[in-house]
Amino acid sequence: MKASNHYAGIRSAWVEIDHTQLIKNFTLINADTPAHLKKLCVVKDQAYGHGAVVVAQAAADAGYDYLAVETIDEAIELREADISLPILIFGEVNDAEFAACLAYQITCCVNDIDKAVRFNQFAKAYVAQASSVAASSLQKTMAGQSTINVHIEIDTGMSRWGVRWDEALPIIEYIANECEYLHIEGIMSHFAMSDEADKTYANTQHSRFVTVIDAIAQTDIQIELVHMSNTGGLLDLPHAHFTMIRSGILHLGVYPSLVCKRIEGLAPVMSVKASIPALRQLREGDRVGYGMHFTATKPMLIAILPIGYGDGYPRVRNEGYVLIHGQRCPVVGGNAMDATMVDVSHLPDVAIGDEVVLMGGQGEEWIDPRDLVKWKKTVCYEILTGWRARLPRRYV
Ligand SMILES: *Cc1c(COP(=O)(O)O)cnc(C)c1O
Repeated sequence: MKASNHYAGIRSAWVEIDHTQLIKNFTLINADTPAHLKKLCVVKDQAYGHGAVVVAQAAADAGYDYLAVETIDEAIELREADISLPILIFGEVNDAEFAACLAYQITCCVNDIDKAVRFNQFAKAYVAQASSVAASSLQKTMAGQSTINVHIEIDTGMSRWGVRWDEALPIIEYIANECEYLHIEGIMSHFAMSDEADKTYANTQHSRFVTVIDAIAQTDIQIELVHMSNTGGLLDLPHAHFTMIRSGILHLGVYPSLVCKRIEGLAPVMSVKASIPALRQLREGDRVGYGMHFTATKPMLIAILPIGYGDGYPRVRNEGYVLIHGQRCPVVGGNAMDATMVDVSHLPDVAIGDEVVLMGGQGEEWIDPRDLVKWKKTVCYEILTGWRARLPRRYV
């Protein structure tokens, strides 16, 4: 999220990223995580809106081993910002994206034989052309042959990406034995529900994954990176850590659910703030906002905030509050794409330019992403990623 011009960031509503807290969170997680584990930092969707390059750099500084994103553009953005950690793309890449993965040294998943055959051909051509320039990313096998790292995703019960656990071995063997330009660096799976108190299904998925690992152990195929745990698994399922964990939300200081274990001292990195551009006196009977959802029953003072659901704030009707002067100020009426009105009648000294906190802390008060979860009727992942790019990011 680079400043696109000289005036970027001067808008009077913005997302604030607390870089010090981000580094502190990484340090606390490192202290809590077994030292032998490798760690992958998930920075998809701009690291859930925090800025992928900033979070990836902090992860690299904190000793993380790998990064992951969801799209080829996200991966290329990191490379162009000189991030040199290995990067994995989750999901499925198409043939054109595979070519880009080779050019930018990005790892992807290969989950079926047809794709393995085609990618092996691309890899062969790339290796032939690259060997003349001695590309540093090429993995050398024992025989001195150059290969391209890939991971295989095992679907253990989400019916999303990957090959079914009970059909996986033939594809793994095919890639290992027949695709001489591909190297299986990693094997992964993903939990459908790892952060709730009931771990029954998570353990079913874990057992299915273990059957694949056990079957591989009966062959001479060796896979260095075995990974299944997201934040929920990292915190609650130590038997599912394998050789690497993948965390996306935890270092941002937000827990995936209310029941997932606490690491003392973790705190959210992201706040959303504004400064008051306008105040209005209401008379008895005045209406506020679209749909006439609020009528003043007495004289009131309201602040008009320059932020609405078009910025990612929930579309609310007389629900929710913001913080001004360390006090809760309730939303009045229905907010708009670009504006939200709040009652400030109880703040005698309120003035244009005063700071407003829509998510985060002010004085003794705190608006947690989980409060917005209630107002937006969603999960905290969508609250974090939902703040739109038109809100400038300020790093403090
Ligand atoms: C998003 C994602 C993660 C990170 O999940 P968190 O709960 O944010 O830690 C891990 N693995 C995969 C495959 C993902 O898509």
